[in-house]
Amino acid sequence: MAERKQPKHARAADTGPETEPITEVAKLPREDTAPALVTRPDGTREKPGFLEELFAPVAGFGVSFGTMFRKIYTEEYPEKPRPTAARFHGRHQLNRHPDGLEKCVGCELCAWACPADAIYVEGADNTDEARFSPGERYGRVYQINYLRCIFCGMCIEACPTRALTMTNEYELADEERAPLIYEKHQLLAPLREGQLPPPFPMAEGASERDYYRGTVTAPTRAQRDYVFARDKAAQRAAEAEREHDNEEVTR
Ligand code: SF4
Ligand code: SF4
Repeated sequence: MAERKQPKHARAADTGPETEPITEVAKLPREDTAPALVTRPDGTREKPGFLEELFAPVAGFGVSFGTMFRKIYTEEYPEKPRPTAARFHGRHQLNRHPDGLEKCVGCELCAWACPADAIYVEGADNTDEARFSPGERYGRVYQINYLRCIFCGMCIEACPTRALTMTNEYELADEERAPLIYEKHQLLAPLREGQLPPPFPMAEGASERDYYRGTVTAPTRAQRDYVFARDKAAQRAAEAEREHDNEEVTR
């Protein structure tokens, strides 16, 4: 059988390059045992002095010793939480117009902008009987999942009505997952003094645009009367229902 011809490069790899045999041990240069040179502030390098050589082994502890004698600062959290930076990204807030109507129009742009898919919005139509925002629609369901949120602020950039902003609140922790999905009632801005709780009609003669132009600055008399009458009717209905239940029990 004919011997298989090896390719040129394979033969070269098998035998290795031809080298001269080592006949004497190479002598190491003397510099290997010489002390390291130190760099001076002006950039020159020279041999360290006697004191420098003496303290070199402990010089590295300088930072440790310096820290040991510094005044101790203790954070008294959670008794005294430190204020955050003014523009710190904390828990979100759904804002209101000056009369108390909600700014959110349920457009879902915030949910689309969120890179972490942390927001869930369901919009619904405002009606004459139940108006929650000046526009056509309002956010009926609004949830933010703080297990997902990375506090990037993309959602607040996307919001066309400035309904969504971020507060400085950062205490968002829990032992369970469910409480960290915040619902609309937890995110809505609390009612300031004079503001009315929706639903109630828009200010008389004002359009949706007037709200965004800032011409509505407080609830009107008619809005206050509406809310008063609405709450009174709800109170009467609740009392009637309680009486009905009591009658059922005594029968
Ligand atoms: S801050 Fe960022 S991650 Fe959090 S809900 Fe808004 S867009 Fe999503
Ligand atoms: S918070 Fe703003 S972006 Fe999100 S649904 Fe409401 S109006 Fe639209």
